[in-house]
Amino acid sequence: NKRIAVLALQGAFIEHEKMLQRLGADVFEIREKADWQQPKDGLVIPGGESTVMAKLLVELGLHEEIRNDIVAGLPVFGTCAGLILLSEYVRQHEDEEAEPMAGGLSTMDITTCRNAYGRQLGSFATESDVEGVGKVPMTFIRAPYIESVGPKAEALASVDGHIVAARQDNQLVTAFHPELTDDTRVHEAFLRMI
Ligand code: GLN
Repeated sequence: NKRIAVLALQGAFIEHEKMLQRLGADVFEIREKADWQQPKDGLVIPGGESTVMAKLLVELGLHEEIRNDIVAGLPVFGTCAGLILLSEYVRQHEDEEAEPMAGGLSTMDITTCRNAYGRQLGSFATESDVEGVGKVPMTFIRAPYIESVGPKAEALASVDGHIVAARQDNQLVTAFHPELTDDTRVHEAFLRMI
């Protein structure tokens, strides 16, 4: 079985664990540095509050190790706050400069906007196509969007003219929460990257 680490410092990690288990993966939680020493085939970074997770990653001494392993090719799937943490540049608000986020992992060639105006300021559900996956239900909760993808990354889905999913080699991100729906196909696509 594939063994997936789920970052469990904060946020919506339980729902990812349930979905991964449903797909036959073995799951374990990363709560402190020692947990990271276990063998793993992939990592999931859940939704939650990206600034809190970034701070905890640094304080717990997990930041360097996780970042190094992602750069070395560890498959990673980030949803919502997880997407923000993986973005090389983050705009805290639409009228602020995009810059690397303090404590962020910054491994993906994308620029992301948090706390966007409009529909994504609140929560909403819709449906849209994800390249290589098909049309999936999408639940957004105070979601970021990807403002631009650099040459190393590829946009996989858009909603309201904003990019909401992207991939770069071993890294997959969604602004929405597939773990909060019944549709397992995005998680299946992640497991196929392993
Ligand atoms: N607004 C959150 C942040 O900026 C992300 C929301 C989520 O993960 N559901 O980190």
